[in-house]
Amino acid sequence: MAKAPKPLIAGNWKMNGLQRDLGELRKLIAWMRGASPSCDVMICPPATLISDVKSLVTGSRIKVGAQTCHAQDSGAHTGDISAPMLKNAGASAVIAGHSERRADHKESDKQVRAQAEAIHRAGLTAIICVGETAGERKAGKALKIVSAQLKGSLPSGATARNTVIAYEPVWAIGTGLTATPEDVARVHRHIRTRLGALMPAGEGGKVRILYGGSVKPENAATLMGVANVDGALVGGASLKAKDFQGIISAYV
Ligand code: PEP
Repeated sequence: MAKAPKPLIAGNWKMNGLQRDLGELRKLIAWMRGASPSCDVMICPPATLISDVKSLVTGSRIKVGAQTCHAQDSGAHTGDISAPMLKNAGASAVIAGHSERRADHKESDKQVRAQAEAIHRAGLTAIICVGETAGERKAGKALKIVSAQLKGSLPSGATARNTVIAYEPVWAIGTGLTATPEDVARVHRHIRTRLGALMPAGEGGKVRILYGGSVKPENAATLMGVANVDGALVGGASLKAKDFQGIISAYV
């Protein structure tokens, strides 16, 4: 059996955060100094704050990620941001295929895969999101949907070093509803098996599989204790230092 990957707790600030809000990050940095968690910690601020966040976390153990990118490295795409630009601003990872991007911008698996390829080309880690909607879950299709998203979104060059998978049931994102530990165990086991089939020998067992969907300090330890859960992608609860620290504390 492969050694369990080092967990990652990543905070997705979504479209939240101004320079004046960075006090919460300063509190987190101070807390991290004393807490020494046994997981990696990452903040994915809006693109406008990446370089500010990078300056603040330099010297701490906190890494910086971005929330999406264009599939091309440069060109005539007004308003878009490429993976090399995000790297230049200080990001070491980029989320691809978050359900809000899949819904709001109609991003397909093919586009998500092209973004992940761009992220890899830039030498960054792709955090590829998959997850079923409430209707798909009700219809008993959760595993089928997740399998199709993995197959369609995972680039052929994906390895455990350049790729993280985030399982985020859409019905649990920002709703306060959390998947049960049994639900999470079933889907994460399935993802692990699928990764074994889709990736080069030995890689699938080493890829970090994060759970995301209303993770809070109150449920973090239980969820992080589930087999094949290697950390969390956290939305709302990553905005306040105290809440995010409560989640990281699952690994203290
Ligand atoms: C997310 O946006 O990735 C997420 C999991 O959000 P929340 O924690 O707010 O449900």
